[in-house]
Amino acid sequence: MRSYDKYFRENRLPHMWCPGCGNGIAMKAIVQAIETKNLDQDKTVIVSGIGCSSRASGYMNFDTLHTAHGRAIPFATGIKLANPELNVIVITGDGDCTAIGGNHFIHGARRNVDLTVVLFNNNIYGMTGGQASPLTPLGKKATTAPYGSVDRPFDPCHLAEAAGATYVARSTAYHVKHLSDMILQGMGNKGFSFIEAITQCPIAYGRKNKMGDAPEMLKWMSETAVMKAAYDKLPEEKREGKFPIGVFYNSEFTEYTTAYQKVIDLAGGAR
Ligand code: SF4
Repeated sequence: MRSYDKYFRENRLPHMWCPGCGNGIAMKAIVQAIETKNLDQDKTVIVSGIGCSSRASGYMNFDTLHTAHGRAIPFATGIKLANPELNVIVITGDGDCTAIGGNHFIHGARRNVDLTVVLFNNNIYGMTGGQASPLTPLGKKATTAPYGSVDRPFDPCHLAEAAGATYVARSTAYHVKHLSDMILQGMGNKGFSFIEAITQCPIAYGRKNKMGDAPEMLKWMSETAVMKAAYDKLPEEKREGKFPIGVFYNSEFTEYTTAYQKVIDLAGGAR
């Protein structure tokens, strides 16, 4: 059995996540991808925003930045521009990435900055008390939507692709190996890679929506997530209540720091 101890800051444990939270699973999936890809720990930077998911950067034994709400992608862009040799991984949540950070998200994708962005989607603002986020599904309850949300949610994968991301994938905390593989593939893409990791929040989201405890929420993921190839073959009526996981988009386009270096060269300067 492999030990991943070197990737974590033991002196920061125990973590603050609630029992049964899916954030630890998603964090471990990132570390597994780092280990498989054999990334140099001293050349890998973890950047996070604000929220339950973004606490992960504090537990990970790399150079890390726990930044301002919604601002992880611009911080990460700055790091990558300053030193394009670094592997820069962004950990963000649904509120952090698609609400206050929504513009940074689409512009990071538009520029195709070489970042691996992992969005832990628990469908709600967990840390601040269970408010609805832009990824709270229609009809689901939150403290700000006690009768069910009437705001149509984003599909963050469609949004990333439409904005210009060159790798887009989704998995869940139930499909741990698959999730790690999706992140690993994203790390191999030279450009903006976006991976949606659906995670269970049994406390703020599951409890309010009577989805049961963590094992029941994981069971829900196992029963409703369908591999993309199989999902694409389903007739419309059989897609009801299901969602696809896998790679949705993968293409090549000039990476931002490469394009930026050309501007620096044309201007006769050095980075
Ligand atoms: Fe996890 Fe939800 Fe607790 Fe936040 S509130 S730590 S997302 S279970």
